[in-house]
Amino acid sequence: MKFNIEGLKSFIPDGDINKHLEEQSSPDSIRIRDIINKSLDKQRLNPDETAALLNVQDPELRQMIFDGAKTLKERIYGNRIVLFAPLYVGNECINDCVYCGFRQSNKECLRSTLSKEQLVSEVKSLEDKGHKRLIMVYGEHPKYSPEYIAETVETVYNTKSGKGEIRRVNINAAPLDVEGFRIVKQVGIGTYQIFQETYHQQTYEKMMPSGPKSSFLWRLYGLDRAMQGGIDDLGIGALMGLYDYKFEVMGLLYHTLHLEEMFGVGPHTISFPRIEPAVGTEFTQHPPFRVTDEQFKHLVATIRLSVPYTGMILTAREPIEIRNEVLSYGVSQIDAGSSIGVGAYSDTDSETYKKAQFVLGDTRTLDEVIYELAQHGYIPSFCTSCYRAGRTGEHFMEFAIPGFVKRFCTPNALLTFAEYLYDYSSQKTLQAGLALIEKELQQIPDETMQQTVRDKLVQLKEGKRDLYF
Ligand code: SAM
Ligand code: SF4
Repeated sequence: MKFNIEGLKSFIPDGDINKHLEEQSSPDSIRIRDIINKSLDKQRLNPDETAALLNVQDPELRQMIFDGAKTLKERIYGNRIVLFAPLYVGNECINDCVYCGFRQSNKECLRSTLSKEQLVSEVKSLEDKGHKRLIMVYGEHPKYSPEYIAETVETVYNTKSGKGEIRRVNINAAPLDVEGFRIVKQVGIGTYQIFQETYHQQTYEKMMPSGPKSSFLWRLYGLDRAMQGGIDDLGIGALMGLYDYKFEVMGLLYHTLHLEEMFGVGPHTISFPRIEPAVGTEFTQHPPFRVTDEQFKHLVATIRLSVPYTGMILTAREPIEIRNEVLSYGVSQIDAGSSIGVGAYSDTDSETYKKAQFVLGDTRTLDEVIYELAQHGYIPSFCTSCYRAGRTGEHFMEFAIPGFVKRFCTPNALLTFAEYLYDYSSQKTLQAGLALIEKELQQIPDETMQQTVRDKLVQLKEGKRDLYF
């Protein structure tokens, strides 16, 4: 791989970020209300506005931010939560990220890469639980070339078990060169996620001391290259705990502005994982900027308001109570029933935890998560319809096109939820789920639409599959 970063300059302006954070150090309630209203008016915030939200300390004003984020989610996106599972393909890695269980120097990590047969078993095992959407995760290693990534994605799409199939594969892997992205694009991936980890370059260089990932600029421009390679569905993220969380949120915003400016479209999703403990990785016990639960909630709500048009991903790194609470602040996708050891879905060997990147906070099964979502009034969705109908950037369309959620997203969520209930759920979840579906059907105001969805639900009950709008 060529590392041509000549002539590139960082588009993360440390000086401006610090200036905004200093100048907006004590925003009053009128300013905060105006900023929230701007976001509710479907406008992306500017850096000084995000800085103001980040500096809010007063509990009442913070509550205004939480309420604003909730209102935005309810008004624009409704009560759907999209479900996916991570699939770890290989944990070999030539980098040495200090916080990661897969780093090259970690002697306690059991290295492993799935063979084709093992990959097929993993996929079948996920399909047998009801999953339809995956994110495939790879360490950074010459083995995991663009051709290899493309081949493993094709294997996943070609693997079926019973009524199960994977309908959308997203990727979290090292940044490629433009040609590499072209190769991966050809096999029909959904989102390509690359987390910058930290937007603070000096910290970055300490945390990623060696290997290809040690180049801050190569990574920072990774998604530009993805765009040039034809992938316009991109996920950004920062690993919370390496540097001040306020700076990281500002970094995510500046990355968004850069993509908007260069390509006319911002990121499809934003992720904000917190550092979790990892085997053989002392660093994770004491991250230098550990983010408290309060700060985490604040940053989730602030990101929601700052970039109202993106999807937001919350992973099973977080414990159940935090997941339940921040779901309402605008999260659109969560993973469920996740295992993050290489081969851990089909091989329950007691050593698989040594092949895992970190330790999960939420270990409920998919069925348990779905039951709880339904109890809390969320519609679990496995929808992949936009991607398959060639409508890219579904979160942006949900946001920007009036009536889109009512016409496509809610009906598709109900259909894919029903499919799950008929094929995979426990009795308890089936009952709770069917009750929720009926309640939601009654809330579809257009009678013709309501009847069309009811008809499709009958077809699903009779055995038809993969129906969508
Ligand atoms: N190797 C590729 C890379 O680094 O971009 C892709 C996969 S890496 C396994 C996926 C992400 O996991 C990283 O970008 C990082 O943010 C996150 N991660 C690594 N160690 C973690 C830890 N201890 N706790 C939480 N997340 C972690
Ligand atoms: Fe390797 Fe990615 Fe872990 Fe860094 S975060 S050590 S690149 S797997």
